[in-house]
Amino acid sequence: MKSNYICVMLMLLLTSVVACSSNKKSVEETEKKKPTVTVNVPSFNADSAYQYIQAQADFGPRVPNTAAHKACGDYLAAQLELFGAKVYNQYADLVAYDNTILKARNIIGAYNPESRRRVLLCAHWDSRPYADYDPDERNHRKPILGVNDGASGVGVLLEVARQLQKQAPAIGIDIIFFDAEDYGTPRFHKGPYKEHTWCLGSQYWGRVPHVANYNARYGILLDMVGGKGGTFYQEQFSKRTAGKEVKKIWDAAHRLGFKEFFPKKEGTEVTDDHVYVYEYAQIPCVDIINYDPDGYTGFGDFWHTQKDNMDIIDKATLNAVGQTVLEVIYNEQ
Ligand SMILES: [Zn+2]
Repeated sequence: MKSNYICVMLMLLLTSVVACSSNKKSVEETEKKKPTVTVNVPSFNADSAYQYIQAQADFGPRVPNTAAHKACGDYLAAQLELFGAKVYNQYADLVAYDNTILKARNIIGAYNPESRRRVLLCAHWDSRPYADYDPDERNHRKPILGVNDGASGVGVLLEVARQLQKQAPAIGIDIIFFDAEDYGTPRFHKGPYKEHTWCLGSQYWGRVPHVANYNARYGILLDMVGGKGGTFYQEQFSKRTAGKEVKKIWDAAHRLGFKEFFPKKEGTEVTDDHVYVYEYAQIPCVDIINYDPDGYTGFGDFWHTQKDNMDIIDKATLNAVGQTVLEVIYNEQ
């Protein structure tokens, strides 16, 4: 994904203008308290999530049109099958920024597919073909291993899938691994400029869902959710289009004691799969994405560099995100 700094600045400006008039409303909203329902939420196992991340990393960079990509796609579909999901493979030829045809594959695992009450969980499984933010320019055209940026979200969701098989929640769940998220226009590209070159898999799925008339109450997107010291600020597009769900997720995280990981503060605005899930499929979707308020890119210094490897992964971060997701979905009725 990419960050939208200009949009953020505009939004901050707008937010400060309307802040005064919305104070009263937010006070009224916080006064309304819902009754608490006790639900048995399974315990997230960060060790197993870590193993699923390692397994993806072991394939090497999962860049579309490579053997590693194909092998990892087969592994992910097989894992979802093993964890009892009804698996759909969505194959599509997608056109990249430089007109390369990407042999893409969205992989979907459905739980309780008959239920009309559904929540969608998603992450991208491809890894970026370019380390175009690497401090060493010689690495700019090399692929990244994409361990945090890609594999971490998928690893957490595979562990969620394992838990779903052991104990079914009250609602139906769809886990979607989107392809070709990270093949967006690199910094060094000199050719004609094209819009919408990121998130090609979710753009495709948003237009052609895996089942006709697909709907879900909302979605949760996980992106870069395994980094040591990771922090998940409230991403701006999510807040604007899925504000109720942002509140629900951050409240759940705080209830569980993960407030260090989930500050109730505004992050940046990013172009990520959740944008297309919302715009094309009209499903509000929250992006839980690492935000580094002090960093140059906003994502962390590993982002789109050769540093994005297993060394930066921390089970405490995986646990905070995974347990929060479980808390949210098992509390849906
Ligand atoms: Zn990326």
